[in-house]
Amino acid sequence: MSSELDTDAINTWCPGCGNFGILRGVKEALGELIDNGYKKENIVISTGIGCHAKIFDYLDLNGFYGLHGRVPPLLYGIKLANPELTVIGFAGDGDILNEGISHLIHNAKRNLDATMLIHNNKVYALTTGQFTPTSPKGFKGKSTPKGSPEEPINPIHLLLGSKATFIARCYPGERKHFKKTLKQAINHKGFSVIEILQPCVAFYNTWKHYSEHITKLEQQNYDPTDKKLAWKKADYENDQIPIGIFYQEKKPTYTENLNQPNKTNNKKTKVDKTLQKMI
Ligand code: SF4
Repeated sequence: MSSELDTDAINTWCPGCGNFGILRGVKEALGELIDNGYKKENIVISTGIGCHAKIFDYLDLNGFYGLHGRVPPLLYGIKLANPELTVIGFAGDGDILNEGISHLIHNAKRNLDATMLIHNNKVYALTTGQFTPTSPKGFKGKSTPKGSPEEPINPIHLLLGSKATFIARCYPGERKHFKKTLKQAINHKGFSVIEILQPCVAFYNTWKHYSEHITKLEQQNYDPTDKKLAWKKADYENDQIPIGIFYQEKKPTYTENLNQPNKTNNKKTKVDKTLQKMI
């Protein structure tokens, strides 16, 4: 039941913020997973710094409130300490695609069995409107009054190149679709990431634009095992913004690979033993 995740914290997001749809979708997805056998006490969350991070206060779950950009190493540490835990991270675009970008890439290449949600509002909102790595070229904000001269990072392309094994894009205006995709991401064994196109009504209000241009991959006879197609689809084509699972593959997770016997030498090395102790 999603209500068992409610807290007494007063919500301070701006009315109309896309984070409300994300919070509701997360509560609904986790509520259903808990009803179907996931143990609430085994779900651990972590957040970075920014408007997204307030979700920490609005979910009654175990967790670690992190520093800016540092959610991926927290997920890594939590998972290594106890591989049985279900680990979910929340981060903003300015948070994880700026300071945190190297951490994100390394969790992806390791195929850590964890889920990352990127609240991509394409603006530093908590600090009142500076451009981020995903802001479109020409974005006018406090730090770029004449327009940003930089090209934006496409998170789906970054994650495809970093070898994440579940890569999706969602939109809080399509909450049932988000809930379903999040449950698939959490059930996926490996590093699953969802880029969430999150409108910020205060500094970059994209509700209308997204509502008019969102299309669903699953309605396009799309094959999520085709990496080349995923790369192509991740670009906005013909003014369409596709959402859904871009890419998914099965691969051993980081902890499974750590537990593999050393094939070239049956004796465990000192490093193997140290790593075994860590997990
Ligand atoms: S500033 Fe933007 S992201 Fe932050 S709570 Fe308000 S609408 Fe949401």
